[in-house]
Amino acid sequence: MTEEIAAKIAKRIRTEGPLTVAAYMAMALHDPANGYYSTGAPIGAAGDFTTAPEISQIYGELIGLWCADRWRRVGRPDPVILAELGPGRGVLMGDFLRAARTVPGFCSALRLHLVETSPVLRVEQQRRLGDARPVWVERIGDLPDGPMLLIANEFLDALPIRQFVRGAKYWSERMVALDSEGGFVFVDGPESPAVSLLVPAGLRGSPAGAIAEISPAALAVAALLGNRLARQPGAALFIDYGYSPSAPGPTLRALSRHRAISPLTAPGRADLSAYVDFAAFAEAAVIGGAQTHGPVSQSRFLEALGARVRLAALSARATPSQRLALETGVRRLLHVDEMGELFKVLAVVSPGLQVPPGFENSLREPPPQAA
Ligand code: SAH
Repeated sequence: MTEEIAAKIAKRIRTEGPLTVAAYMAMALHDPANGYYSTGAPIGAAGDFTTAPEISQIYGELIGLWCADRWRRVGRPDPVILAELGPGRGVLMGDFLRAARTVPGFCSALRLHLVETSPVLRVEQQRRLGDARPVWVERIGDLPDGPMLLIANEFLDALPIRQFVRGAKYWSERMVALDSEGGFVFVDGPESPAVSLLVPAGLRGSPAGAIAEISPAALAVAALLGNRLARQPGAALFIDYGYSPSAPGPTLRALSRHRAISPLTAPGRADLSAYVDFAAFAEAAVIGGAQTHGPVSQSRFLEALGARVRLAALSARATPSQRLALETGVRRLLHVDEMGELFKVLAVVSPGLQVPPGFENSLREPPPQAA
């Protein structure tokens, strides 16, 4: 399987020349026949990586209650679209919907929409979430109009990035080429003032050798969502590993069976991802017309939402081995040496709503409109 996608990428390089890192990532992850997400079962202990909803049920439950709170704040619209970007195995949404049932009127108002490209994962989502009668769409732009709640856990990190290298005077784009033995190697394209303009303004002055990353696909999601939330009420949560403010990289990485390998050795067989530039993402959403809160650390967010209270409530009814598993899970989500600080939470909301729970003192607003 790897050989097939590797051969396809190599063939394209032979005919078109070196590919951008984004084009390489897009083929390796999404080629319809041989791409990583098109063929495999990447998530969980038996896969290549584990995510927060797979670690603790409390995660999806608290996100469900956060969304219920936002739903009340926008006047309990019925129907309301509940969208998830990249739902993986559907675990987060399963926990979300179970918690949502405790909020009168919320569940029956929800119209579940899943934005998912992987046919393999769609099957798994159907199995877990079929009772909620989900509608699948390919892209965020395909979601129907109307009030909306949206969540995205470890979605943005999977979107392709472009990388730039600071040369002596200007920036050049880092490309993927073939070496003399037919293996993939990084090469630097030509340095030019035009390429420098693609680098985030705050990073342009970095020293020679510095690497900057941008994710055009992530910025397009932010702009589209920002625009939509300026016109239609709603709120969105993006949770991922990442940084804010913008900072030099490189952060592109490949995971296979929970171990880091070179991003160029096993296209199609390893997960490829990059840290999320939350500052750039939030800026694009704000320019689109929404407000953003955060990013705040995952630990701050989950603690504010009552992760420890929920842990105590579940533990009181658990067997000793269940209690240990619950405590270990919450520790992984919150601890500074685990996911607590590396993972961050950004809220993108319609302008003028109250500060959402977990985001006190972290507002960012659109600039005043020019007359
Ligand atoms: N949210 C899940 C899964 C994270 S993995 C969890 O936390 O466990 C990334 C998910 O995004 C997968 O479901 C993958 O198939 C999906 N995905 C990746 N790129 C996508 C794209 N461009 N459009 C839609 N879904 C995408």
